[in-house]
Amino acid sequence: MNRRAGIEVNGRRYRWPREPLVAVCVDGCEGAYIDRAVRAGVAPWFARTLKEGSAFVAECVVPSFTNPNNLSIVTGAPPSVHGICGNYFYDRESGAEVMMNDPRHLRSGTLLAAFAAAGAAVAVITAKDKLRALLGHGLAGECFSAEKANEAQLALAGMARPSVYSAELSEFVFAAGAKLLETRRPDLMYLSTTDYVQHKAAPGAPAANSFYAMLDRYLARLEAAGAAIALTADHGMNDKHGADGSPNVIYLQDVLDGWLGAGAARVILPITDPYVAHHGALGSFATAYLPAGADAAALAARVGALPGIELALERPDACRRFELPEDRMGDLVLVSRRDTVIGTSVSRHDLSGLDAPLRSHGGVSEQKVPLIFNRRIEGLAPGRRLRNFDAFDLALNHAAA
Ligand SMILES: [Zn+2]
Repeated sequence: MNRRAGIEVNGRRYRWPREPLVAVCVDGCEGAYIDRAVRAGVAPWFARTLKEGSAFVAECVVPSFTNPNNLSIVTGAPPSVHGICGNYFYDRESGAEVMMNDPRHLRSGTLLAAFAAAGAAVAVITAKDKLRALLGHGLAGECFSAEKANEAQLALAGMARPSVYSAELSEFVFAAGAKLLETRRPDLMYLSTTDYVQHKAAPGAPAANSFYAMLDRYLARLEAAGAAIALTADHGMNDKHGADGSPNVIYLQDVLDGWLGAGAARVILPITDPYVAHHGALGSFATAYLPAGADAAALAARVGALPGIELALERPDACRRFELPEDRMGDLVLVSRRDTVIGTSVSRHDLSGLDAPLRSHGGVSEQKVPLIFNRRIEGLAPGRRLRNFDAFDLALNHAAA
């Protein structure tokens, strides 16, 4: 294997890492979290890296959800290529809502698997287990989650098993990653956290600052162990509630039932997953399947006129604009505004688990994310639109020697 040639994945070429590269996806990392932690003086690594490394604002994939973006980062490609456009899609033929956590839904290889196949030592650590199988697909290397860590992995992190709803679930990822780097020095590492803290705490809040202070300590430790670091996010995060703390929700299934008859259309919320307590399955993105013969253009216009809706697009427009797979999207794609979420029916959302005013994501309003490197990044084409899934390209192909 000629390592100097690097590898090619999904039409993009990547140079072989010159030094261990740690790519970090901080779930729900709205840029303001970092700014506020730096201003509070609790994030010295970030403060220095923002000056001495390279920092950009990039755009994530819409829907601005966890799985589509993590998969984009590790494939270097949008969902139209890798196929993962949410947690669920609706299969019209079987009439079933299909969960996309299974790697059989993945349509392209990852650069992690390709580097490992070419002889690189690769490690992947996630917070929640739902991502592990997708990120580790075809990967000959270390791949585990904090949620389902075995005894050896718990020992590596030096931690007791964290609760799935905790800041410690993310801390485990860094504790295990730092130890792995210090002891086994993999060529490539991908660390992916969970947005439990970001769903509850706004930028600058005590819980947020303490989370970013924790992150900062581990990033400094990874750097001290000789790692090049590329840090980005899967999506941002915004308040989705009114002044009284109650969520601003458009119950779209109820709206369409009123217009077209009960159950004639089907609204799918691709944010839905087995862990909904912290967001009640409410996000700023939905897709709707319409009954045969429905006038999609007219309905798009009508939904688009609802207060709180930012975009209501027909499938072909939405898939072109957001680079989504047409066969996994409904007839309409709906995006709500910054302070509003889309639900199905009032009766189908259990909001009893929301112990803080709703913060969530999914829309265009959560598309701006940080893209930060502890090395200087050079030679980018002027005016280039940067995406979070350019993280490996910039780190491997554009870092100053
Ligand atoms: Zn996320």
